Amino acid sequence: MYDILIKGGRVIDPAQNLDGTLDVAINGDKIAAVDKDISPQEGQQVIDAKGKIVTPGLIDMHCHVFDSIMPIAVEPDVAGVKHAVTTVVDGGSAGQATFAAFPKYILPTAQTKVFCFLHLCSFGLIPEPELKDWDEVNLDGMAATIEANKGIIKGVKLRLVGKLVTSDGIEVVKTAQKIARQFGLPILIHIGDTDKQVPATLTQECLAVMEAGDILAHVYSGNQGSVLRPDGTVVPELKAAMERGVILDPANGRNNFSFNVARRCLAEGILPTVIGTDLNHRCLKDRTFSLPVNMSKFMALGLDLKQVVAMSTINPACAIHEEAKIGSLKPGMAADVSILELQSGAWTLIDTPGETIKTDKLLMPVTAIKNGKVIPAEPVALPPLAS
Ligand SMILES: [Zn+2]
Repeated sequence: MYDILIKGGRVIDPAQNLDGTLDVAINGDKIAAVDKDISPQEGQQVIDAKGKIVTPGLIDMHCHVFDSIMPIAVEPDVAGVKHAVTTVVDGGSAGQATFAAFPKYILPTAQTKVFCFLHLCSFGLIPEPELKDWDEVNLDGMAATIEANKGIIKGVKLRLVGKLVTSDGIEVVKTAQKIARQFGLPILIHIGDTDKQVPATLTQECLAVMEAGDILAHVYSGNQGSVLRPDGTVVPELKAAMERGVILDPANGRNNFSFNVARRCLAEGILPTVIGTDLNHRCLKDRTFSLPVNMSKFMALGLDLKQVVAMSTINPACAIHEEAKIGSLKPGMAADVSILELQSGAWTLIDTPGETIKTDKLLMPVTAIKNGKVIPAEPVALPPLAS
């Protein structure tokens, strides 16, 4: 007997190379079985998933959920379970001086599991642009914060924007990398400078020092510091970084996604490793909406469903070293499951410069199952219908 039986869905679990009509059984907070034709009598609660897509619980690799503290942050469950996403990673909203609010006020309110990157700037992303000078960096404070929050903090965040990065460039990147490595953690680097202060070539310098497991956010940004050279070709350091194991995240958000850059990179085989949304209040009802919408966006750009599921399940689980617990439906893993529906219709998707594309397929969130608890999705907003 199982507590929950999800019957008849198309189960896609790239970690196990599964794609087929299968049933998923849950006991307590763990996956118990994935098999063909488990009898409905075996389930206390049976969820009919016929015509639906069943995946390991989706993981949003980059969003901003420092709710009520960082003004543009969303609640973790808005980035998370309301869109059938069971785990979210905060992309460095907090620094060492503000981080304590995460475990005290944010994590206890959320049904969604939250992991965090700690910003190199003591005050995180409040105010922007951060890091005016070295006074905003406190390495001892960072070390104490990481030590006190092991298991929550998954790396160190730095944006290639602002005064200090403009003046001291790669030294700031190396400082972030050094403190991260003291704890065996990666760095998360934001490229794309809307203020056009940071030399465009810093992205190349930065890519050259990034190592396997480090994360490049906004890989398809069209802003200054983008991976495209003025002649429209992709900087060679990007492919080399990808081949070394640097993780590439589009982290679409509002300001840092260009269809043009994405197309050029995809044409050269530079695919996202993970699909973060960079979700925040500026883009929740406008360009980004949710992780399922961003998965759909990459399907509209030519990737297939299995690829975008891998980029939203096992790949981010590996990036935050949680793959023994989440990112797959192997028996014994956390009972985190996402149920989605691939709807047909006509929707408009828009990038930062304002280019629109139409898509005829949209992944709609239906249900999240988080640690064995069934939570119906409540999408906050959807892309506009195409005319
Ligand atoms: Zn971000």
